[in-house]
Amino acid sequence: MALAEIKDRIATAETRAGRAPGSVQLIAVSKVQPDDRVEAVLRAGHRLFGENYVQEAQGKWPEWRAEFPGCAVHMIGPLQSNKAKLAVELFEAIHTLDRPSLAKKLAGLAQTRGASPDLFVQVNTGCEPQKAGVLPDDLDRFVTDAQRLDLPVKGLMCIPPEGEDPAPHFAMLAKMAARNGLDQLSMGMSSDFEAAIAAGATHVRVGSAIFGARDYS
Ligand SMILES: *Cc1c(COP(=O)(O)O)cnc(C)c1O
Repeated sequence: MALAEIKDRIATAETRAGRAPGSVQLIAVSKVQPDDRVEAVLRAGHRLFGENYVQEAQGKWPEWRAEFPGCAVHMIGPLQSNKAKLAVELFEAIHTLDRPSLAKKLAGLAQTRGASPDLFVQVNTGCEPQKAGVLPDDLDRFVTDAQRLDLPVKGLMCIPPEGEDPAPHFAMLAKMAARNGLDQLSMGMSSDFEAAIAAGATHVRVGSAIFGARDYS
């Protein structure tokens, strides 16, 4: 199945980049996919998944977690503040911390629960007006402020602009992470995960190349 091929390509990209085998985690992005496709990947032994919508994840994952022990599900879509409470209960990590108000909300929830999912700060590396993410110029300050709130910021995440060479965006994200002492990089999707691995990605988010095209109709 496609999962095995993607894993092979990740291993090859790790080697080519001089990186340790297994240093890149594959997040299988299961949003909007039919259950049978996701279950095939679960049965093949894969346990790390990505979802974009809180409600969709809430509907699917409790049962799969019970049936397939050891699952981790990461939130990779934009997170509305009014869904934050549900999100911290559903996900092992959130890749889309992108604004001060959400940081405050997550910090409050972490205090109440005594725990927080791992967090990635989404960076709008292309400075696209319609795209979520902290602007590069605001990033260092944002990370410092989030850390002062005791939030477990582990790394950075980006989605490069469509139709552009992603490599400079991946390189920029790696540089910003290093500058802030963060060692995790969530970058690379179906079309560009090998370039992301060459630039230091620790988490690649691959959906359609594993499951096939999404049908939103
Ligand atoms: C949907 C999505 C992906 C997966 O995209 P593919 O092109 O299907 O691999 C990765 N990251 C984010 C943030 C997404 O929304």
